[in-house]
Formats: sequence, structure tokens, C-alpha cells
Amino acid sequence: MSASTRDVPSLIAGIDLGGTAVNVTLLDTERQFLLEGLCEHPARSVEGPGICLQQIADGLDLAVAEAGVQRHDILAVGLDTPGPATASGVLSQRGSTNFVHPDWAGFDIRGGLEKVLGLPVHYLNDGNAAAVWGHAARFGTEPNRTSVSAIIGTGLGGGVIHQGQVVAGSRGFGGELGHVLLPVASLIESLPELVGLTPRCNCGRLGDLESLCSLTAIRQTLLPHFLQQQPSHLLATLDPTAAAVRVRGLAATGDPMCQAIFRVQARALGLFFDQMINIFDPDALIVGGGAIEADTDFQHWFLEEIRAGMPPQREEQAAIPLVIMPNGDAAGARGAAIEARRQATNRH
Ligand SMILES: [Zn+2]
Repeated sequence: MSASTRDVPSLIAGIDLGGTAVNVTLLDTERQFLLEGLCEHPARSVEGPGICLQQIADGLDLAVAEAGVQRHDILAVGLDTPGPATASGVLSQRGSTNFVHPDWAGFDIRGGLEKVLGLPVHYLNDGNAAAVWGHAARFGTEPNRTSVSAIIGTGLGGGVIHQGQVVAGSRGFGGELGHVLLPVASLIESLPELVGLTPRCNCGRLGDLESLCSLTAIRQTLLPHFLQQQPSHLLATLDPTAAAVRVRGLAATGDPMCQAIFRVQARALGLFFDQMINIFDPDALIVGGGAIEADTDFQHWFLEEIRAGMPPQREEQAAIPLVIMPNGDAAGARGAAIEARRQATNRH
């Protein structure tokens, strides 16, 4: 029986809102996603909440049409956006780099979407939503599993799923992995070419994970540092933003300096995962994001470098799986849908 012939709404929509695009997925009761790829629609977030929420509603209608179902088949919605935002989906008063229109400051995006759609909306920040997907892709509905996901993008997002539950925190800032401080002295000891590096994050912290492991870290810190040592490198002639986005591609084709930059990121992640192993004793460590959307050889090399960055583990923990997140570009929408399904099930 198809969803459209049911009397009771049963589908969950997962909506991933970024600064430029809305991505929608649909989840059925068998935990299958109805859309194979992404259903993407322009977000128009710079025009403010009113226009953007309508874009989300339109994007949802397009996804519903593509899947051959109806809007009234939808029981609830999972929404994820970049933070900072509270646990209930109120965006920060100080605004965000992704939502620049002044009306976004302090805007209740969860409540706003609920009004526009007339459906219950459950909110997660994008890192936590991706972590929910990474966890579900590996463990399905197995109970009591724990995983830590790190998503390397413009910043460093991610989240912790502890015993099957996302650690969202009391105020919505749980799993802010990017701003966990690292033992930078340990990193420099293993990579002497980093002597003199001052990794400052946009949040103000010196030496947190995002300050070393993100596209922003490459642009602001790592690339300038390495170019000082190799001023004749081909990236030295480009402007920093254009140069930073080329580092991954060059690293994947064997450029030694760009590989060294990715080695720093991997080793930093290794130190971070070591902290997570000691705190959570997890079942899996998961890596996602644009940084590792490359061929499998590069992904394997990167995972090996993460392992190399981890201090020796206890025998019992040495085999904790370290894996790449599948379907990375759909992770946010899928995770938001899975979490909304869990919430809807708990309510009934
Ligand atoms: Zn930070």
C-alpha cells in the first residue's frame, strides 16, 4: 500500500536549510527514504524569514510531487539549520553567517515553520542532524549504541549520539565539537613543521578543533603558514579563498604541501577522537563533510592519518571503527527526519 492511499498521515519530511539551499527528503514508516537523491530548492535566506519559510514550503511541495505522494500524507517535519540556535530552534540574537538578514536575529525558525506548514516541526542544528544520520546509517534501530560524528566543512560540525539519543544539551549547544580545545602542544610535537602556528578560531578560542580542522582553518591559518615555508607553491599566486578550496583536490592528487595540510587536519581529529574515546567509549567514530568528498584512496589515507594522530589506545578500544559517513550531502535532511520520526513515535 502506498503512502498516498493511507488514511492516517505517516510520512516524515526531513528539511535541511542552509544559507543558499533547502534540501528535502521523505521518510516512510519502514525507515526508507522515498527520494533517492536530494530534492533541492533555493533558500533565499538573505531576503529574510518570510520569503525563506515560503521557499521551504514550496520545496516541500516539490519533493512531495517528485515522490508521488500528497502533503496530507505528512505526519511531522524534522528541520535542521546551521547554528547557533537554541534547542527549540530559536536562532541566535547575534545572528549567524548563514542568515544575514536582520529579521533572523532571535527568530523562532521552528515555530515559524510550524505555522507556515500547519505540521509539528522538530528542530536540530545541522551538525547534530548529520550525526543522527551517520549513527542510523551504521546502527539502524539497534538500541544503546554510541557514536561520535565530525563533519568537516566551512566550520567543524558534528554531534554525539549516546545510547541512541542525540546529545543536544540543555540549551542546544551539546555536541559543539568544533569548539572543544585540543592539546596543540601534542600536535606540534608530532608535526614539527607547525612550530610557530597560532590556530585562532572565529569563536575566539586558541587551538580548538575548528581552528585546525575546517575550510576556514585552511584559509586563515594553515595555508598562510605553509605558504610562508613554500613561497613558490602554485597556490601562493591565488587569493586566499580561491586557494583554500583547491587544497583538497591538490592533496588528493599527491601535492606534498596540500597533503601536509590535510595531515594536520587528520592528526587534530585524531587527538579529538582520543578525547571522545576516553569520555564516551563509543561504538563508532564517523567522519563526514565536504573535506573528505574525494576518491576512496584519499578517504582511506585520511582515516589512516587520523589513526596515526591518536595516542595508543587500550587493547579493548583499539578496534573501535573509524568510518566515512555515507550519503554525506543528504546527511542533515535524513538525520532531521529520523529524529522527528523518533519524537513522533514517542508522542504516540
Ligand atoms: Zn571555536
